[in-house]
Formats: sequence, structure tokens, C-alpha cells
Amino acid sequence: TTYAADDERYDRIPYRRTGRSGLDLPAFSFGLWQKFGTDYAFETQREIILHAFDLGITHFDNADRYGPPHRAAQQNFGKVLAKDLASYRDEIILSTKAGNAIGPSPYLKGGSRKSLLTSLDHSLRDFGTDHVDIFYSHSPDLSTPLEETVGALVSAVEQGKALYVGVSNYLPDRAHEAAVLLADAGVPLLIHQPRYSIFDRRIEQNGLLELADRDGFGLIVYSPLAQGLLTDKYLETIPDGARAVNSTFLKPDAITDTYRQRAAELNKLAEARGQSLAQLALQWVLRNPTVTSALVGASSTWQLDHNVKALDFPPFTDEELALIDEHGVH
Ligand code: NDP
Repeated sequence: TTYAADDERYDRIPYRRTGRSGLDLPAFSFGLWQKFGTDYAFETQREIILHAFDLGITHFDNADRYGPPHRAAQQNFGKVLAKDLASYRDEIILSTKAGNAIGPSPYLKGGSRKSLLTSLDHSLRDFGTDHVDIFYSHSPDLSTPLEETVGALVSAVEQGKALYVGVSNYLPDRAHEAAVLLADAGVPLLIHQPRYSIFDRRIEQNGLLELADRDGFGLIVYSPLAQGLLTDKYLETIPDGARAVNSTFLKPDAITDTYRQRAAELNKLAEARGQSLAQLALQWVLRNPTVTSALVGASSTWQLDHNVKALDFPPFTDEELALIDEHGVH
């Protein structure tokens, strides 16, 4: 079947400005970390990607690592891009990351120029595109001079292989140093990708939120649902097929009694507000305009339809925020 994008796709979700750049991102971005390798049916993956685009989700987040095996998620995305989304490439913000290990070779890990630029070339082959929109250093590499890592990001832009650059998982000091070096090179730091959720408050405590405002970069926050823990799915059981059953990144032992009590309290609050826990958790990370986009995963189109309604509810009161603080410690 031939895909034609929904004509109303830009009326569904808000777009938010990324820091002090000119780029708008959708309030919800879609990531292909889990269930986009060879472990899940390609037709389902394709359906989810196209559904996301129909919902106005213009931003797709990838990394050389995503699979299994590594690179498979990018290759699957590339297939959908070639088959269905080719005529919409200009309407898509495609990102990739490099620097986390994808093999035992010293050139398949770390923040060296060799590692980052070789990976990017390979990622362009995975996608079948001549450029990505955002190229990230996936994690800080303290054994490599930051000048070298930043220099590789700058080269990617100068070579026309990326339009913007980002960093992920950097602590504020190193993120600031990177922002300064990048600004000096005339390639401003567009965005930082940290983890953030009701269960992970690190960026509130370590100053990254303030730094983003000061330095003018945006924030796209990953695992805002704590990989599904901030939904109602684990309250009673661990459903077949859920991430806590079949991923190496979320184990059934995360579903403790303490977790269930906290999630049940948060779920009660969500119900009182007329929304689901997933919607509450997503609305919560987006309550601060410094957070440009909530970067979600999904294993069904239903999850996406449900989650993008998260901004259709009244703002949180101070009492509600205090309750979320009380039960949100994980
Ligand atoms: P989330 O916290 O949004 O978790 C998404 C998962 O939760 C889904 O895949 C699904 O898993 C489950 N879920 C989603 N909605 C619902 C719902 N309404 N009801 C029940 N279950 C639901 O984000 P991820 O952890 O997936 O991370 C998102 C993206 O962030 C990644 O794809 C990646 O792009 C990026 N990321 C970046 C990292 C980095 O180092 N830079 C690290 C980690 C992620 P299921 O149905 O399978 O249980």
C-alpha cells in the first residue's frame, strides 16, 4: 500500500522552540531504541513510525547502537524512509548519535574523531540519506580531549553531513565547555539529551536546567515514562511482551512493592485529574518550557495516540506538584 501522510498532522501537537535556535521540535519526539531491531515485526515498526508522523511527530531519534543488532533500528528506519517517507524527508528531523560502544574495536567506541565521523558515515548509509538533522556525541568520553570530540561534531556540519549538533548524558560542566567550544567554532550547541522523569530528578538537582537557559541550548528528555514504569501497566501484573519482560535494560526486579506503592499513589492523582499516569508523567516533564521535547518510545500505535494527549489537561497546582514530589522519589 502507498502511504500518504494525514493532512491534519500539524494540528495535533504543539511545536516548541529549541533553546535560542531557530528550530522547532514537536512536544513529543519518537525514539527507536527498543523493539526496532530484528526483535519485532518490521510491519509493526513501519506502522508505528508512519502513525507517529501522522500525529505530527516530525522528530525521529536514533543511534548507531539501536537494535538488536547494533544499527538495525537505523536500517529499519531507512527502509520506511525509502518506501513511505521519501517525499517527506524535508519535513523530518532525523537524529543519530555516536560514541557509545558498538563493538570491541577501539574505533567503534568513544569520542575520538575516528569513532564519531566513521560512525556518522555508516549511519548515513543505514538511513540512505546524505545528511542527518542532528548529530550527537552519545555520552561524555573523559579519556578524549573535548576539543577532539567537539571538532568532530563541527566537521560533520562543515561536511554537510549534519545540520545541527547535540550532546547526550553530559554533566553540566562538560556540557558548558562543549557549548563554549562549539560557539567559538560557529556551530552552536543545539540541544542536550539527558534522562528526566518523575523518577529521575537529576537535571533539576545538578543545574542542567538552568545551564540550558543560560547557554541557550534546548533539552530533549529521554525515558520520560521511566521505560514504562510511569504508566499503569505494571500496577497489578507484568504483562506479556512488556519491556520489563524482554529487555536487558528493564528487569522484572524493578517492579518492587515500593515501586508499586509509589506508582499507585501517582496513578490515583492522575485519575483525580482525569488523565492516565502516562499522560501525567509526560505533562510533568513538559511543564517547564526549557524542556523542548519529551522523547518517548512506543510498541503500539495505541500508546502513541494515548500519550500525545498528555497536554490536553489543566496545569498542575502547587498541591499536585508537591504530591508528585512526595511519591516520585524512586
Ligand atoms: P519511555 O520512558 O517513553 O518508555 C517508552 C516505553 O514505555 C514504550 O516503548 C512502551 O514499552 C512503554 N509505554 C509507552 N507508552 C505506554 C502507555 N501509554 N502504556 C503502557 N506502556 C507504555 O522512553 P524510552 O525509554 O523508550 O526512551 C525513549 C527514547 O529516548 C529512546 O527510543 C531513545 O531514542 C532515547 N534514549 C536515549 C538515551 C541516551 O543515552 N541518549 C538512553 C535511552 C533512551 P513496552 O510496551 O515495550 O513495555
